[in-house]
Amino acid sequence: MSFNELGLSEPLLKAVSKKGYTEPSPIQEKAIPLILEGKDVLASAQTGTGKTAGFTLPMLQILSEGPKLRKRPIRALVLTPTRELAAQVLENVKEYSKFLDIRSTVIFGGVNQNPQVRALRNGVDILVATPGRLLDLQNQGALSLAKIEILILDEADRMLDMGFLRDINKILALMPSKRQNLLFSATFSKDIKKLAKGFMYHPVLVEATPENSTVDVIEQKVYHVDKSRKTALIIKLIADGNWQQVLVFTRTKHGANRLCQKMERKGISAAAIHGNKSQAARTRALAGFKRGNVRVLVATDIAARGLDIPLLPHVINFELPNIAEAYVHRIGRTGRAGASGEAISLVSHDERAYLRDIERLVGEKLPNEIVEGFEPSDNPPPVKANNSRGRSSRKPRPKSGTGNRRNFNSRPRRYSSRKED
Ligand code: AMP
Repeated sequence: MSFNELGLSEPLLKAVSKKGYTEPSPIQEKAIPLILEGKDVLASAQTGTGKTAGFTLPMLQILSEGPKLRKRPIRALVLTPTRELAAQVLENVKEYSKFLDIRSTVIFGGVNQNPQVRALRNGVDILVATPGRLLDLQNQGALSLAKIEILILDEADRMLDMGFLRDINKILALMPSKRQNLLFSATFSKDIKKLAKGFMYHPVLVEATPENSTVDVIEQKVYHVDKSRKTALIIKLIADGNWQQVLVFTRTKHGANRLCQKMERKGISAAAIHGNKSQAARTRALAGFKRGNVRVLVATDIAARGLDIPLLPHVINFELPNIAEAYVHRIGRTGRAGASGEAISLVSHDERAYLRDIERLVGEKLPNEIVEGFEPSDNPPPVKANNSRGRSSRKPRPKSGTGNRRNFNSRPRRYSSRKED
């Protein structure tokens, strides 16, 4: 299918072709016509599937076809869990609306609100926002949601995990009840379904097939190694492979900082991106990484969620996540848009239970290797008491009954139990 067949207008087709896209991704193919029809859409799609264009293109078309209002009240609201994602969505909105008379802006916390208030005062058609700052500015009278026609919740599961449910409900109460609702979420937990039921009108369910965008094209590997040798091993892998753009995941903010420092000492340029960094520092780190000035970006799960890093060849799990679903999100950063990628996990003795959880979730045993000179010792050091490892070792979960790796959406997510550090 081509973009022309989706019913998009000329200015949007021009913007799409300027981006170099030749055909719509599965989620775009399914969601765009439905959204253009004015339906409420509940979409299961994670980062890397092209979901942003999937809701942005039809939103722009609907807004550009509507009557021109003199004072430009906010007509579409995109809510995102994190500031990074908000900034990226706005970037997409700007690119796709290049040839349209549509104004957009973004607001999020952690930065001075004055420029945001000024931008709002000038009038915008589309507002991209994180919930906290949106409510702050609404309370101050800096914006009104009374004319919203389209509401989009992006990465809604993440929003719930981050405890935004109350804020979302407050925001819903500020909008007219007649509007179009779109909800994008990587997984459909019970909570997501409950949320959707509460505010959406006969939503149509669409799912992105992850085939060409995520798990299937990613070569996954596990290296068993002692915890104390992980830093040396990761440096060796990056140096020997001459990898120039690597995304590394650690479980903690301090771990991310420490690893960065050690890499820098070995002459590998690295930057950390996590919740303790200022917005400016995160943006700088990400921009440096995209430009190629920074070779290694070390991130925690929370900070990395929603980052738009196209065509990333290597993702390394310096530590496995304690929530198996986070693994799928992490490795979804590689092998995007059809390009192949490699996801490597460094697994120490104390992480074996996590590995079993992950293998159960993705429905396959991950190929494992031992690197010469990094053989794990037979007698691992005892696990620290406060380090409560893998619940599967204490209470085995019954097998899901499917060996289908696409079924990672079927289990309830447990991100809520997870915090950085
Ligand atoms: P998203 O899932 O929205 O984060 O998008 C993931 C990546 O895919 C981004 O870098 C987009 O620019 C890119 N992308 C979106 N739609 C397409 C498409 N139809 N063809 C190729 N790449 C796309």
